[in-house]
Amino acid sequence: MKTVFTIIAPVFNEIGNLDYLYARITEVMDTTMEPWELVLVDDGSTDGSTEKIRDLAKQDERIQPVIFARNFGHQIAVTAGLDFSRGDAVVIIDADLQDPPEVILDLIQKWREGYEVVYAQRTEREGESWFKLATAKIFYRTIYRITDVKIPLDTGDFRLLDRKVVNVMNIMRERHRFLRGMSAWVGFRSIGVGYKREARHSGKTKYPFKKMVKLALTAVTSFSYMPLQIAMWVGFIAAGISIIAIPVVIILRSIGSQFFFGQATTLIAVLFLGGVQLISLGILGEYIGRIYDEVKGRPFYITTETPEDK
Ligand code: UDP
Ligand code: MG
Repeated sequence: MKTVFTIIAPVFNEIGNLDYLYARITEVMDTTMEPWELVLVDDGSTDGSTEKIRDLAKQDERIQPVIFARNFGHQIAVTAGLDFSRGDAVVIIDADLQDPPEVILDLIQKWREGYEVVYAQRTEREGESWFKLATAKIFYRTIYRITDVKIPLDTGDFRLLDRKVVNVMNIMRERHRFLRGMSAWVGFRSIGVGYKREARHSGKTKYPFKKMVKLALTAVTSFSYMPLQIAMWVGFIAAGISIIAIPVVIILRSIGSQFFFGQATTLIAVLFLGGVQLISLGILGEYIGRIYDEVKGRPFYITTETPEDK
């Protein structure tokens, strides 16, 4: 059977959302009059979402279940969805209905006009803490500044990708994946569509602060060497200051001035440089750890069930 559209939704403990997600997606996708499939990737849920996905797949053969052996994280879950997708156009959407499925029709419209990447851009966000809003704002702007690819502001993973783009992204087997960056990096004709991000239908966010920091680090390290270069610039500045300081201190001493005597000055200088060195080592370590992860070449995810088992 020909599949024109694939919808991918990563699921991590979203039991309260699955029925409604299925209903809303079905309603929207049926209006396209084209064959479609919904790939539900279960990212190690423990709340019964796994069984629910299996039930839905039994009810409706358009549902393709991908069940992970444990939690591998949101970006990896979406990656698995891309691996198993068969549509000519692939839409990535959150399972918590923060991204309204109706927007998919706008994305499809742009795709039909010839765009290969259509990303949904948040013009408004509802029901989120000021902390999440502020960190998200800083995050998107920092990434935009320091990375080499221009990742559109205020866009999450909610987007439509043409088959050509998906094929390219599927051969980019980097372990630490920041899909928004990757889909900007590959190029192709892209355009944004504005939408209002809703509040979660049910449950709470599965992105605690720790996961947000991890994603931000992946975004920076995957697309920028700037942190590594900062160490060099601080080094140049520190060396420059000491070169200027040598004649200054010699002159001060020869005219009998009491400036720059004492342990406090020395101690502060030593602590400062020690700190800078340790931070630089930490940054190096961050990149080396990532290289190590890549070199190990472990599979991205382990599945207990895939659409091929059907
Ligand atoms: N998710 C996942 N694995 C994780 C964390 C999240 O598959 O480890 C899914 C989650 O079920 C949801 C989507 O990723 O469908 C976005 O997560 P969430 O809504 O918690 O993030 P937020 O919208 O709060 O940033
Ligand atoms: Mg959400």
